[in-house]
Amino acid sequence: MFDSLSDRLADALKDLRGKGRLTDADIDRTCREIRLALLEADVSLPVVRGFIAKVKERAKGAEVSGALNPAQQVVKIVNDELVGILGGETRRVTFAKKPPTVIMLAGLQGAGKTTLAGKLAHWLKKQGHSPMLVACDLQRPGAVSQLQIVGERAGVKVFAPHPGTSVGGEGTLGVSSGDPVEVARAGVAEAQAQHFDVVVIDTAGRLGIDEELMKQASDIREATTPDEVLFVVDAMIGQDAVTTAEAFATGVGFTGVVLTKLDGDARGGAALSVREVTGKPIMFASSGEKLEDFDVFHPDRMASRILGMGDVLSLIEQAEQHWDAQQAEAAATKITQGELTLEDFLEQMLMIRKMGPIGNILGMLPGAGQMKDALSQVDDKQLDRVQAIIRGMTPQERENPKIINASRRIRIANGSGVTVTDVNQLVDRFFEARKMMAQMSGRMGFGGGGRKSN
Ligand code: GDP
Repeated sequence: MFDSLSDRLADALKDLRGKGRLTDADIDRTCREIRLALLEADVSLPVVRGFIAKVKERAKGAEVSGALNPAQQVVKIVNDELVGILGGETRRVTFAKKPPTVIMLAGLQGAGKTTLAGKLAHWLKKQGHSPMLVACDLQRPGAVSQLQIVGERAGVKVFAPHPGTSVGGEGTLGVSSGDPVEVARAGVAEAQAQHFDVVVIDTAGRLGIDEELMKQASDIREATTPDEVLFVVDAMIGQDAVTTAEAFATGVGFTGVVLTKLDGDARGGAALSVREVTGKPIMFASSGEKLEDFDVFHPDRMASRILGMGDVLSLIEQAEQHWDAQQAEAAATKITQGELTLEDFLEQMLMIRKMGPIGNILGMLPGAGQMKDALSQVDDKQLDRVQAIIRGMTPQERENPKIINASRRIRIANGSGVTVTDVNQLVDRFFEARKMMAQMSGRMGFGGGGRKSN
């Protein structure tokens, strides 16, 4: 569902790539594009404003990490802020100390509550709980039997009004009342008596917000004092999601949000607005009609899915953990001056290799897809050999590779278990690369690694 937003964000960030340093104008332009992308995805205006202000401030500020180039820094900032508006930490269900835990579902008709009740029950069972569903949607014709079908599929008991008041059925627990508040109360009591440890209450929804609906939901809440009230919202309804969320927040109150129909092709701005507008966490995401199309909502995973840069982000994280900025800075200066030594080269290589197997690191770089063939030639064994050769050299040889004459090459080859040709190749390539890097960094006009974002 976030495909077009993802594409737009990727486009906005693409222009920064390859820039040695970012000017305020670069950041302003990128932020303008991100703003448009978010608005087009139906994210609510105040949320977009807050988001852009934070990204801009951080991107222009002195928040410089030595491990990252400016484009990567902006990607990281955008990602961090996306995680922020999606709620930061993953919020898990609060279970009651004394069972049963009561979970009440609220939302408009068609939001996906009944479907969700089944999914939630299925998920709870997988977590080792014994859930029971309570049918309190006595408004919509067929809602009770729909819940019973859903319960059957999930293999859980459904508590509903007796036949006569509505439908019954084999295995159905019941009560002789047509009052949703009574049904809810009786359902919780029954769960307690029969040792179900979680009760999921499905409530009625209207097509639009109305007072009677709010009152009924609020009465059920009062009668059953739920541990969680989940506001269920169809992610495809765009801006309306925010209005509805606000109405339910004041009318009923809720502890968490469930986004449904995330599999739809709509723009999905609801996902990005609801948390920020209501201050309540998104707890679950539902993305299809099957019981399994449902999971705990993880803000960080959703953000990297939206950015479509999961791999790059984990590379950035690893780089931040393992990067020694001073060492890298020193090496960068030497590169510009054509003074890189084999010792520096070895240190840099060891630093990069700390991030993981070289194939993975290179594979994570943007554009790596097209370079697959070339990358398949680089493997860790080759690097091990390079490391062994450099380690077979004396400190003087590493500092000043020019002194590595024919007899030294034979000694190094014997000492590190490789052929003289291997040593020759390494030394020759090192000189070539050093020359090329010095020329390139001179031409690009930056000396200190180009990591300033002034
Ligand atoms: P309720 O009125 O809130 O109980 O909503 P329902 O559970 O009856 O769902 C309304 C419609 O949306 C039904 O046709 C469901 O099959 C469908 N639906 C529910 N959740 C999802 C979902 O995550 N993805 C898709 N594609 N459809 C869903």
